[in-house]
Amino acid sequence: MTTAGAIRAVLFDFHETLISADRWFAMEIGGIAVEMLQHLGLWAGAPPEEDRRRIEAAFARLRAVINGAGVEYSAQEIGRRMLRAVGRDGVSVEALDAAAARLFRAYLADVTVKPGAARALDALAVAGLRLGIVSNVAYGPFIAWALEAHGLRERFHAIVASAEVGLRKPRREIFAAGLEAVGVAAAEAVYVGNDYLKDVVGAKLAGMRAIWMPDAGAADYRPDTAIHPDAVVGGLDEVPAVLAAWAGAA
Ligand SMILES: [Mg+2]
Repeated sequence: MTTAGAIRAVLFDFHETLISADRWFAMEIGGIAVEMLQHLGLWAGAPPEEDRRRIEAAFARLRAVINGAGVEYSAQEIGRRMLRAVGRDGVSVEALDAAAARLFRAYLADVTVKPGAARALDALAVAGLRLGIVSNVAYGPFIAWALEAHGLRERFHAIVASAEVGLRKPRREIFAAGLEAVGVAAAEAVYVGNDYLKDVVGAKLAGMRAIWMPDAGAADYRPDTAIHPDAVVGGLDEVPAVLAAWAGAA
């Protein structure tokens, strides 16, 4: 019998929660439009001024859709739309896939794991919890590659990427996909993340508990909303104790 309130799974945000990768993050929200076309071999070097101007305008419109509606574009889809913006078409799915893979592989060396991650994940696994990742990312394989490079991939039962769901945090659909992937109900899961709006508010609106792990630059919206995290931690090494305290109280 399931105890009311018992937590069976922990889902994590990726950037600034499990890992840091500032260059990759900046590419995701800006450079990706030009860099996808460079990896497709469209120009020998930097784009001509007219192409750059068209790509900036087209990508700004995608960012408006992303930020306003929570719709996600994969790296391949961004590449396809940026090609169209400069009057090119007819690039194969295989070429787009290969360009996305090359682009994201180039950022793997940028990834560093947050202090205490392996120890915290081990403690949660030993406590019998299922672990997963729910991340806003334009190319899903990047997460598994980055975890593999640091020996952490095996610790996670599931990785859910917005590029594959088609919708981003804070929309509830991507949290629901994460819950389905680890096989637990929302009330049996907690989400751990650094971003108050995407992670804490998103997870709470999806029916989960939330642990907020603010990074140095995180904005605190607690005074502005009644939607608050269930716990606040200073690092990953504090998460197992929060879960243990909840298990003791349940
Ligand atoms: Mg984050």
